[in-house]
Amino acid sequence: MEYKFAEIEPKWQKYWEENKTFKTNDDYSKPKYYILDMFPYPSGAGLHVGHPEGYTATDILSRYKRMKGFNVLHPMGYDAFGLPAEQYAMQTGTHPAITTQKNCDNFRRQIKAIGLSYDWDREINTTDPKYFKWTQWIFKKLYDTYFDEEQQKGRPISELVIPEDIKAKGETAVQEYISEKRLAYYDNAQVWWCDSCKTVCANEEVLTDGSHEKCGNTVIRKNLKQWLLRIPHYGERLLSGLENLDWPEGVKDMQRNWIGKSTGAEVDFAIDGLDKNLRVYTTRPDTLFGATYMVIAPEHALVNEIVTEDKKESVDAYIKAAALKSDLDRTDLAKEKTGVFTGRYAVNPVNKQLIPIWVADYVLMGYGTGAIMAVPAHDTRDFEFAKEFDIPVNCILDPKDAENRDKILAGDACWTEDGAYINSSSDETGLDINGLNKAAGIQQVVEWLEAKGIGKATVNFKLRDWLFSRQRYWGEPFPVIHWEDGEVTLVEDENLPLQLPNLEEYSPSATGESPLANAEDWLMVTDKNGRKGRRETNTMPQWAGSCWYYLRYIDPNNEDSIFDVKKEQYWMPVDLYVGGAEHAVLHLLYSRFWHKVLFDLGVVSTDEPFQKLFNQGMILAFAYETATGAKVASDLVEEKDGKYFHTETGEELRQIVAKMSKSLKNVVNPDDVIAHYGADSLRLYEMFMGPLDERKPWAENGVKGVFNFLARVYRFFADPAKIVDGEEDKEVAKLLHQTIQKVAHDIENMKFNTGISALMVFNNLAIKKGKVTKQTAETFAKILAPYAPHMAEELWSLYGNKETLAYEAWPEVDQSLLTEDSYEYPVSFNGKMRFKIELPLDMPKDEIENTVLADERAAKWIEGKTVRKFIFVPKKIINIAVG
Ligand SMILES: [Zn+2]
Repeated sequence: MEYKFAEIEPKWQKYWEENKTFKTNDDYSKPKYYILDMFPYPSGAGLHVGHPEGYTATDILSRYKRMKGFNVLHPMGYDAFGLPAEQYAMQTGTHPAITTQKNCDNFRRQIKAIGLSYDWDREINTTDPKYFKWTQWIFKKLYDTYFDEEQQKGRPISELVIPEDIKAKGETAVQEYISEKRLAYYDNAQVWWCDSCKTVCANEEVLTDGSHEKCGNTVIRKNLKQWLLRIPHYGERLLSGLENLDWPEGVKDMQRNWIGKSTGAEVDFAIDGLDKNLRVYTTRPDTLFGATYMVIAPEHALVNEIVTEDKKESVDAYIKAAALKSDLDRTDLAKEKTGVFTGRYAVNPVNKQLIPIWVADYVLMGYGTGAIMAVPAHDTRDFEFAKEFDIPVNCILDPKDAENRDKILAGDACWTEDGAYINSSSDETGLDINGLNKAAGIQQVVEWLEAKGIGKATVNFKLRDWLFSRQRYWGEPFPVIHWEDGEVTLVEDENLPLQLPNLEEYSPSATGESPLANAEDWLMVTDKNGRKGRRETNTMPQWAGSCWYYLRYIDPNNEDSIFDVKKEQYWMPVDLYVGGAEHAVLHLLYSRFWHKVLFDLGVVSTDEPFQKLFNQGMILAFAYETATGAKVASDLVEEKDGKYFHTETGEELRQIVAKMSKSLKNVVNPDDVIAHYGADSLRLYEMFMGPLDERKPWAENGVKGVFNFLARVYRFFADPAKIVDGEEDKEVAKLLHQTIQKVAHDIENMKFNTGISALMVFNNLAIKKGKVTKQTAETFAKILAPYAPHMAEELWSLYGNKETLAYEAWPEVDQSLLTEDSYEYPVSFNGKMRFKIELPLDMPKDEIENTVLADERAAKWIEGKTVRKFIFVPKKIINIAVG
């Protein structure tokens, strides 16, 4: 009964493939369950053991749900646009499509070798023109949609009402008005530029240390004409939609923080000597009386007008210097404050005082209006700036119980907590909030500003427009033509997909433009009137294809529409989505945004795409380091008696847990694990390592452990001598039904590791008993199937079944077997526990007394003594007083 996994596993994989066992039909009579993996980027390195962790978990659930009678949609595909294939093309001239094809083939082979039950007829690839035709189609939808603030929803641009005063200004003004409303627009934008990747990056791709998440190089600011998406319009919807989602709180919080909603007011400050206003956004309009200066960002549109002649030189120099700094450098609280006075003053609207306008780079153009009012008495950063440049500090909140109250009142210290307002009234303007609390103060000032027409309550979002283009070849081309007369048109639906041109040269063009600018034949177009145009040379960012791929799985081969309406209504939303937590504010926010737009336009039937989200924990590896913390590659480490030594220096090393990495030579390839132990062992170990959402290190010994378990299962359950007819042993029957219940419960709750333990416990009992009935063996094969499907199919066929067990009904639990009918009592003599005895729960008390006292183990404690009292507490204890 040798466990020959290398024969069993390929046999069943072939069976599943030939019989299309996991082909999903759109059978609307069944309840549906859509279970989705975050699809991989098919890198040249192939799968690592981190991939199958999530894939195995979803596969177990898929197999279980099928047995529970659900129609399961469980698809796989490739997010295949990306930089590595393009860089390889630059070096070798190999078309990225060829590299991508090769990598996808390798991924598919590896995934199939794990025995994952995907419906391969639904495989998609974001680089396939049949797929990106619809990515381009959605882009067109975004372009032709505006956000109706009142209805809080996206509507077709054709329904946009053009105000009469705009119409009066003529066609150009109308077009400009429309363009300002489109969810997708083309504009000069201050963008993040990665000089190493030679491309722009979205805000979400820039890490908090100012580096590009793809390559780690520091990004810089650049002004470029780019496509942007107005995602902030959906800020409120993206926030409120989170409420009803079954997602990890941590991911929801990251999205909330990224969206960054705040309430405050926009306030207009008149500029002294100019017929212009400077608008600021503040969350604390109640502190206007404390505003003693203003700051505008170096990129502010009014800088040149505001700067007085004598200050021009110093301001220009400052702006030049600021352009070279990263946002992080500019806003780092620990950094020295810099700034220059513009020579100009603004008028504080609440008290008519003149306050200086400064330019300082700690104010960014990206947030609010690019201008702030500064209240140094009550903001640490403003306070430091004011002290540095000798600007007055005006305390307006009474620091009642503060130890240094006098200092604060004198403007020599900063007070950032609350207090009643002081110095907050003006005879000239009539505004007076002295003595009020914060809420009342904000309300009164906002009402006053609105009545005067110089400000209004405003909601602000940190979320910025999504920079949606890249200077790349290997991405979706925009279906856009820029005409010589300045008009921009989109490619007609019937001419989609707009394919990528074939190139000889994949490097960016000399001007820093995308390589598409090299494709002359593709690039230049002429319309039927002889007007010349040029195609958009940017391509869409890699996030585009993954924004909606889950929708295409529903109807992947539909050539006439993005998907069939009925199918979408049946399958959506995704019931469970499993993937890494690193996508919290990238993919997961972007796809929610697109989905909401499609929902508003009536393309999809649900407001949210992913009902439940689960993040698997990262799989780490053991690594080794010296006493000084230097890392040592695994092939230079040897183990002796549980200690680790450097094979060359002999130095003792410390075992640590770290990310798998090529340099540490501790990357585990699933192919190797399958070759040594089989796919079922790989699957079982991925789940047995620990709770799915935790980080845990890979340990070869652990794989051996689950392999030994499977080998023992096989030796017993595949042995005809062990499988008998007749009535099942009571203990076996009881544990079998406990195990059915436990395994089902643990799968439903994604506690896969404890489900495996239960299967192990049952296997031990079966081996101890030496035999089980055929019915028990078949039931065990069924509950083992989601975890170790190859082994389960093999056993199932050994028992004479001709069909796959993938659609066998999940075994019913016989509840009557689970209820306790006896109890093991601890028996004490004079309070000391001496032995245990199992007694039926329905046995009368006098019979219990007789049985216990007659037990031979009791004789020793009773001999020569009198039983004075027999204490019996049902389902608890038995105590006998003797003396
Ligand atoms: Zn980069």
